Amino acid sequence: MAAALRERGVKILTPCAVRGIETSSGTVSGVVTEYGRIGCASVVVASGAWTRYFMGSLDVDVPQLMVRSSVMCPSPVEGGPDVSACNRNMGYRKRLDGGYTIANAFHSYHDITPDSLRLFGKFLPALRSQIGSLKLGLNTRFMQELRRPRRWPLDRPIVFESVRMLDPAPNDTFNTTALTEFRAIFPSLAAARSEQAWAGYIDVTPDAVPVISGVERRPGLFIATGFSGHGFGIGPGAGRLMADLVANDTPIVDPRAFRLSRFFDGSRIEIDGGF
Ligand SMILES: Cc1cc2nc3c(=O)[nH]c(=O)nc-3n(C[C@H](O)[C@H](O)[C@H](O)COP(=O)(O)OP(=O)(O)OC[C@H]3O[C@@H](n4cnc5c(N)ncnc54)[C@H](O)[C@@H]3O)c2cc1C
Repeated sequence: MAAALRERGVKILTPCAVRGIETSSGTVSGVVTEYGRIGCASVVVASGAWTRYFMGSLDVDVPQLMVRSSVMCPSPVEGGPDVSACNRNMGYRKRLDGGYTIANAFHSYHDITPDSLRLFGKFLPALRSQIGSLKLGLNTRFMQELRRPRRWPLDRPIVFESVRMLDPAPNDTFNTTALTEFRAIFPSLAAARSEQAWAGYIDVTPDAVPVISGVERRPGLFIATGFSGHGFGIGPGAGRLMADLVANDTPIVDPRAFRLSRFFDGSRIEIDGGF
């Protein structure tokens, strides 16, 4: 994707933290990065699990929380299945190197943070729908996030420069359950042992539907976030819709379901599925 974009003249700067967005009379006028300012009339904030924190500094409320999801890779095994599948305890996918990526498909973990409390009401239906599959825990993240500034000056390093990548610890219990299930379903793969494990933060919205939207009363400011665990699959379509909105073209699909304002305009928030 990066190669295709470069061929079309797009510049990709990495690693390069965005410190903030500048506005002039309420309209976007530039982006301030750790390497300097880039003038522009439109910005798409697509900062994944960081989006709520980043947008908060602009006084834009994005109801989004982080759910920690864990994955593991067993040692290479011969003779396993080619197709991907999942059940309540495990999902697996064959990789190009012949090994498997395995995860506990329906179980994830939410570290309670100050935002969990602030957004409790909005996420209550989601919480109810996840009873039995979402574990809650209180750890050092609560105080870490409580201490983080809500606003910051743009002329000095900020958290996006000290934390380049969110890299939470995997949940061993979830991973072990998944591997045990994998070996039970495919006895010929009983020799598979955990070789590598990792976790990531999934950016979830109260209805598990992404926000692909302009921000009301902030001309030039757009958000693409909250993919709720499905961003690889729907990324290309989401990107197309976002491009249509920024360019003010006829949108490829009705964008109303993805508008940010649905969380504030009295719309009923329903959850139909999981994270
Ligand atoms: C364990 C796990 C399994 C998953 N499995 C699937 C799957 O099977 N199918 C599927 O469709 N999806 C899956 N997902 C979800 C998928 O990974 C996400 O939905 C997708 O990556 C979201 O893409 P994004 O571009 O919105 O955000 P991200 O991929 O999070 O990218 C946001 C980027 O913005 C950067 N950023 C943030 N703030 C700043 C800043 N201030 N300055 C500069 N850069 C910044 C971040 O460093 C990051 O690189 C999975 C996620 C996890 C954690």
